[in-house]
Amino acid sequence: MPELPEVETSRIYIKQFLLNSKIVDIQARVSKLRWNINPDIKKIFNNSKILKISRIGKYILINASNKNTLILHLGMSGYLSIKETIQRKIKHDHIIINFERVNGEKKSLIFNDQRRFGYIDFHNTLNLKKHFLIKNLGIDGLSKSLKHVPLKKIFLKKTSMIKSTLLDQKIICGIGNIYASEILFYSKINPLKKANHLSNDEINSLLLNIKIVFSKAVLNGGTTIKDYKQPNGKVGYFAQKLKVYGREKLKCYDCNNIIFKLNINKRSTYICPECQKN
Ligand SMILES: [Zn+2]
Repeated sequence: MPELPEVETSRIYIKQFLLNSKIVDIQARVSKLRWNINPDIKKIFNNSKILKISRIGKYILINASNKNTLILHLGMSGYLSIKETIQRKIKHDHIIINFERVNGEKKSLIFNDQRRFGYIDFHNTLNLKKHFLIKNLGIDGLSKSLKHVPLKKIFLKKTSMIKSTLLDQKIICGIGNIYASEILFYSKINPLKKANHLSNDEINSLLLNIKIVFSKAVLNGGTTIKDYKQPNGKVGYFAQKLKVYGREKLKCYDCNNIIFKLNINKRSTYICPECQKN
């Protein structure tokens, strides 16, 4: 499933084409992905100009001149690409946004999603934070507002394991299963430790390593485990740089002990028993 770095990689790529372009037409070739697609999307966005392409957690936000923002989520298997408008559509190309660039070039943003867990919707830009998918999101993993004091306050009330706490999108948004294991390894924290038992140093280490792991992953185009592709068609090279995720029974790069896998709330978690003793 695409996590923050994969979504950010997609955002950066599509931005270079979409910014200041005019939406000519939106075609939804299915009536529903994870949720129903609002049929007014076409009427509302046709002929509007794209002003900004941002992201919160795993959501891409495309802010248009019609005072509305498109909300895109890649779900489990969704990916975005930019193609020539005249190109033949392929299987699972569910959403096609035809647009015209400032230089007159006509292109399409294609949302392909084999498993259909992805999503597209829109909402009034001023009230975007009231949208049912956005309103409960916590602070974005790459946001400057992610700081010690507010995070500690939240953690003190959490008796759940830190691994599960990191996956809770209502606290920090954008962290999924792969990066939770990596961030905890970088921070030398045992995933089973309760969030309210983290020391100040451990919280600082987490904050630092969330930024380090995410930034490195974005620079490498994200992580391809199964089918994720960058919008330019390439795989994400961070998979080769993972230190614990997917490395069961292999030696830890830092201490040579054997990495093992455990299940926390039915999700695989990878840990070095030596580096993450505490
Ligand atoms: Zn180790």
